[in-house]
Amino acid sequence: MRFKSAYLKLTIFYVAILMLVSIVFSVAIYEISSQELSRGLGRQGAMLRDLPSSEFISQPRMDFERTRMEQIQESNNNLKINLVYFNLAILVASSGISYFLARRTLKPIEEMFDLQNRFTADASHELRTPLTAMKTEIEVNLRDKKFNLSEARKLLQSNLEEVDKLELLSNGLLTLTQYQNGQGIEFENILLKDVIEEAQAKVEGLAQSERIEIKAKTNDLKVKGNKQSLVKLLIILLDNAIKYSPKGTGITVFSEISGNYINIKVKDQGIGIKASDLPYIFNPFYRADHSRSKISAVGYGLGLSIAKKIAESHNGKIETESKPGHGSTFTLKLPKSS
Ligand code: ADP
Repeated sequence: MRFKSAYLKLTIFYVAILMLVSIVFSVAIYEISSQELSRGLGRQGAMLRDLPSSEFISQPRMDFERTRMEQIQESNNNLKINLVYFNLAILVASSGISYFLARRTLKPIEEMFDLQNRFTADASHELRTPLTAMKTEIEVNLRDKKFNLSEARKLLQSNLEEVDKLELLSNGLLTLTQYQNGQGIEFENILLKDVIEEAQAKVEGLAQSERIEIKAKTNDLKVKGNKQSLVKLLIILLDNAIKYSPKGTGITVFSEISGNYINIKVKDQGIGIKASDLPYIFNPFYRADHSRSKISAVGYGLGLSIAKKIAESHNGKIETESKPGHGSTFTLKLPKSS
């Protein structure tokens, strides 16, 4: 709807260009054709005039001259009418074509605009939730005449939890923006083993607290990439694998060559993802409904969208296989460095 007037303006612009070209060509065609016509008929007139003059042919000569002038006039008029029809046909056809072209030109911009709007709306919503919770708590406590020190402590503790959530969210948003721009990422040859080990070390504490064992099978495969970004990506996948797995289960991480890619797989024995959620889990702020499972994981639905952006900045992609109740496998596919 918002883009309707932009479609119209661009259509008018395209039609104006096409009509300008068509009119310039028509005028040129008219000029050339009428000149050619009068030159041809002029030659015939000259031939007739060159004939020896006699009573016998002077009358036909005058008739011919008149007919010749009329013919030039008529041909020019016909040419003009045909060119006007031609331009009208161009106008009708170009209106349709221009509208089609305008839609094609603006469609990706409109989609981007919608995506950006949705992102801003979702981000504002997520920011407002902890802020509203803090504000309500503070207001309620301030109205309490018997509000004492121990209650103040509780309030501050609760506010701190909300501030932590806000920090998590703003860090996520900042990281996503950083990878969306794809700037300042330097690539080098790195051993995947180092990436896997560093990421594993960062989540080991969380895994232990959940009694989840991470088994990493490493090898000597190398990729061209940014080490810190790839570590961040693996942390996101491992962190999710821990968050969405029941206590006492296991996670496997390994890498292998597959065609033109080097695959790094993170396999868990967690709650899995419904087929209806799979197409959306990489969208910012998308969180599947886990109310049926006993898992209540904290998050804003930004992790996988950051992971996807990092993979794309390495010309790679992430594939997901999952079945509810049977765990998930996330495969990061990076191009083999030549
Ligand atoms: P967050 O974990 O903060 O909600 P993510 O973007 O990392 O956000 O993940 C999006 C959603 O994908 C999660 O809410 C969850 O529903 C689903 N998901 C991601 N990884 C897993 C996994 N290993 N097992 C089950 N569900 C997962």
